[in-house]
Amino acid sequence: MSALSPVLKQATPVLAERGEGVHLYDESGQAHLDFTAGIGVTSTGHCHPKVVAAAQEQVGKLIHGQYTTVMHKPLRTLSERLGEVLPNGLDSLFFVNSGSEAVEAAMRLAKQATGRPNIVAFQGGFHGRTLAAASMTTSATKFRSGYGPLMSGVALAPFPNCFYYGWDEETATKFALRELDQLLATVTTPADTAAFIVEPVLGEGGYVPANTAFLRGLRERADRHGILLIIDEVQTGFGRTGKFWGHDHFDGKPDIIVTAKGLASGFPLSAIAASKELMARAWPGSQGGTYGGNAVACAAAIATLDVIQEEKLVENSAERGEQLFAGLREVAESYPVGGQGGIGDVRGLGLMAGIEFVTGDGSPDGATAARVHAAASERRLLLLTCGTQGQVVRMIPPLVVNGEEIDEGLRLWRESV
Ligand code: PLP
Repeated sequence: MSALSPVLKQATPVLAERGEGVHLYDESGQAHLDFTAGIGVTSTGHCHPKVVAAAQEQVGKLIHGQYTTVMHKPLRTLSERLGEVLPNGLDSLFFVNSGSEAVEAAMRLAKQATGRPNIVAFQGGFHGRTLAAASMTTSATKFRSGYGPLMSGVALAPFPNCFYYGWDEETATKFALRELDQLLATVTTPADTAAFIVEPVLGEGGYVPANTAFLRGLRERADRHGILLIIDEVQTGFGRTGKFWGHDHFDGKPDIIVTAKGLASGFPLSAIAASKELMARAWPGSQGGTYGGNAVACAAAIATLDVIQEEKLVENSAERGEQLFAGLREVAESYPVGGQGGIGDVRGLGLMAGIEFVTGDGSPDGATAARVHAAASERRLLLLTCGTQGQVVRMIPPLVVNGEEIDEGLRLWRESV
């Protein structure tokens, strides 16, 4: 008899049998309030009837029609529909299956298009677990240790992480941009730098939002030096942050967007978008993947876009996010950082909320975060942790969550803390 590898550490003891809306139901039929959404994937809620119907209908017509062989209708329609929500000028799409693959596709495109070998990534960023994606990932050492050498040519610059540095936004941003300039003057000259890759909100790195001055600073340097700006919206796209794209909060202007997670309500699908001119500079045959743009996943993604629009999920994310943050800040006030430690920070955007636990001397407190996380699981509130030491408990409920469900989540959170 075989079993799953122990390397797959399960965050909760739940054996999920079925899902509906913001709830997962276990074998005994008990409901668990799911504030993880499959790590920010099932934004339309578990098994949204429209997504289910679209996928079922497509399964009966065509499951797989590989895009280097034939075009199929769900892929063509999805490309048109995504064109309506992508930033102006990003009118060319390419599909694969996961966030990591899409990150690699963006990296490959940037290097081929510029003919330059290096990438600048930002400290605390997470871009995936495949080799090139992991090489650009620094949110925790576990993602990049024990199997090197990683891809060479990745230079790291600071992210304006105010809580980490203990600085205000302006100071942290000036520091980050100054260090970036220094890096471009010494470690990787502009002539060698293909792209910057950045998340609008550090995800695995602890739910740390970027800011407008920082993203404008990146854009300005990218324009000045002919460097491409890749914005990794894998976790932040499709309304997660209360705007359609995470970078919409910060006047971000990407050359390449990377998307996945919220795109297809749980079907494996990811995409990169760029201008036609840029996309045409990828070397023919260098991009692709057997399952990329799978017909059933594309049909589910079209239904997902319908649901996001019809049920105003972006607006709901912003409104329910305000409610969530107000409640989380109230709880945090009862646990200020003292000799025993406490809640050091509550941060994020929309329905992407992180609560950072610190020890009495202000160090990351992964142990307390783990205990609170376990206490929440016992109360059937499913959460996740992130950050360098797992010190940040995060909440990413499906975007269909309603006011009562947020209140219920907050009640269980208060008890757990
Ligand atoms: N990029 C970001 C910002 C992510 O949050 C993730 C996954 O959490 C990835 C890339 C990698 O996506 P995947 O796990 O689908 O490979």
